[in-house]
Amino acid sequence: MPCISLVTGKKLPSYRTKAIAKKAEKAARKKGYRLITYGCRNCNGWHLAHRTHYRTDCEAGCRCLKGIPKKEYKTEKDAIKTSSIISEKRGIKMWVYECPKQEDTWHISSQSGATPKKKKRRKRSPEARERRRRRRAAKRKQ
Ligand SMILES: [Zn+2]
Ligand SMILES: [Zn+2]
Repeated sequence: MPCISLVTGKKLPSYRTKAIAKKAEKAARKKGYRLITYGCRNCNGWHLAHRTHYRTDCEAGCRCLKGIPKKEYKTEKDAIKTSSIISEKRGIKMWVYECPKQEDTWHISSQSGATPKKKKRRKRSPEARERRRRRRAAKRKQ
């Protein structure tokens, strides 16, 4: 599976070694691009990412089922945009969920990925809340 840019959806150039990637990073810097070199777990190569688009791993330590740290998205919109690019390019359904360990952080997961249970629970939660509200109201009347 080739790596794709989560910003443009295009195929991501992959560098075989860190040294080669660093060289490309330096060449880009001369042209005024601020890039980050990072090792890729998908293709075992190295890629360059724009600093503004580079996602760090979840600070709370969330991992997917394979044990790979999850990327942090600071807004739901950002996560949805990225998930739709992945869905389109890879033909797999992705969904966005809020980090269970910290606020204002969002993660993307494929359905076979991490914590699908949380989404199911979320779907039911409005009814559950309504039931709780009714129970509390009944208690007050007593
Ligand atoms: Zn890659
Ligand atoms: Zn997290």
